[in-house]
Amino acid sequence: MHCTTQTFNLCYGHRLLGETGKPSQVHGHSATVILTLQNTTLNERGQVYPKTKVEETIGSWITNDLDHSLILCNTDPLLPALNSLNERVYVMHENPTEENLARLIYTRATGYGLPVESVEVWDTENTRAIYTRDPEETENTDA
Ligand SMILES: [Zn+2]
Repeated sequence: MHCTTQTFNLCYGHRLLGETGKPSQVHGHSATVILTLQNTTLNERGQVYPKTKVEETIGSWITNDLDHSLILCNTDPLLPALNSLNERVYVMHENPTEENLARLIYTRATGYGLPVESVEVWDTENTRAIYTRDPEETENTDA
């Protein structure tokens, strides 16, 4: 099995609904996203997947949609005020935990056809959330 990883920087703000203390306050992270791609075979250029295609798809989406955004749940009471001020907000249907961010990025990357094995979101140097491919999922061999 062949694996490659690509790393992306992700600066974002969020707050977690249902929490108390610091996580419930708007705060920011300078996170690292590690995307792991996996395939049993290599393409004609000897790659798991072309790195330029990764940059053009999920890398571009992370940069343009998530990076330097405030990421909030769609039920967050801050949303109407921020929207009226035209603040940059990315709205999720779930609480914007690192776990849900990892799954969001995984889902987006697989939607682009990338053979994703896992997505890690390191929100601090000590903590990370990982979302991995469901073993029942069929492997994507498009490259
Ligand atoms: Zn946080």
